[in-house]
Amino acid sequence: MSTSVESPLLNPVPTRDGQVEGYVHSFETFGAVDGPGIRFVVFMQGCHMRCKFCHNPDTWKTRVGSKMTADEVLKKALSYQSFWGEQGGITISGGEVLLQVDFALELFTKCKKLGISTCLDTCGQPFTRREPWFSKFNQLLDVTDILLVDIKHINSDEHRRLTGFPNENILDLCQYLSDIGKPVWIRQVLVPGITDNDEYLKQTSDFIKTLKNVQKVEVLPYHTMGVRKYKEMGIKYRLDGVEPPSAQRIENAQKLLHIADYTGYLTWKPGLVIK
Ligand code: SF4
Repeated sequence: MSTSVESPLLNPVPTRDGQVEGYVHSFETFGAVDGPGIRFVVFMQGCHMRCKFCHNPDTWKTRVGSKMTADEVLKKALSYQSFWGEQGGITISGGEVLLQVDFALELFTKCKKLGISTCLDTCGQPFTRREPWFSKFNQLLDVTDILLVDIKHINSDEHRRLTGFPNENILDLCQYLSDIGKPVWIRQVLVPGITDNDEYLKQTSDFIKTLKNVQKVEVLPYHTMGVRKYKEMGIKYRLDGVEPPSAQRIENAQKLLHIADYTGYLTWKPGLVIK
């Protein structure tokens, strides 16, 4: 029988037999780019942002998808555990996982009891220091080894044009994670004519340099693989005519973001917190 508990973002949180249920979009059983090592990736359903380059518009809607408990997800994940090795584990991605903090907290708490490495992949949009969300987020951080944080655009006006939201709270999330010494990988999607801009890339680099917890910086080249989904869903694709960046521009962005300076991930171990 279903009951409800309070949540500032997804209210009420669905529960079944005393466990929180998450709205799950899909799984990747052998994720090689979603955190350290090989990982089982849980893609959560729901995102408030509307990034022009998003290749998963089918994850946007909240309160749809498969309702699953942490035990159900964990059972599925554990059948792939033999692939994880020393560095791998479970990543929760999206959509936007921080819209479903209660579910992520329940899943990662169970993971930590089993010694499984936990990674949270977020765009940061729901981040706020307001209560009661902030305390719950801190509980989630206690059972999270590492975060992948996307900076969609360093300039807040441009960020709003690109995603529909400003970036101040996302940069504040990065600052907070730095202050508490929680390891992060920062990722920048390189979109020609939008983020592929030397001045903005330098500003992004300057911001990243102020943080003390960054283990890796990645450039994710824009691609058009999601266009088909927009057509199928009858949504207008807003980057029509934009081509993926050239190898030269990708290399330029990698240099401007000084990705070679961030090599801490090579020595990353599950549970290690960089001081
Ligand atoms: S934050 Fe991620 S899921 Fe949400 S719109 Fe942007 S790219 Fe898509």
